[in-house]
Amino acid sequence: MSRARQSVEDRRLRLLKGACPVHGNGMSQVNVLKVDGRIVNLVECDRRACPIQGIQEHSDGKIRLLPQYAGLLEQNELLSA
Ligand SMILES: [Zn+2]
Repeated sequence: MSRARQSVEDRRLRLLKGACPVHGNGMSQVNVLKVDGRIVNLVECDRRACPIQGIQEHSDGKIRLLPQYAGLLEQNELLSA
């Protein structure tokens, strides 16, 4: 990764645009899941070897990162090596 640090705000903005918060690549549907009775898309970063996944609501297209990646939006230190 070229940038040593990324701001949490940068990551939030990328995710709002439907992109991987770390790489800015698009996130593509890889599966369909049922969560709390709703059908949602499981989406994953298009970048090879990037494991970041999220849940995309059908209603508004909004993506929420899976819990194990949620920390990316809360602190700068993760994945910043
Ligand atoms: Zn990525």
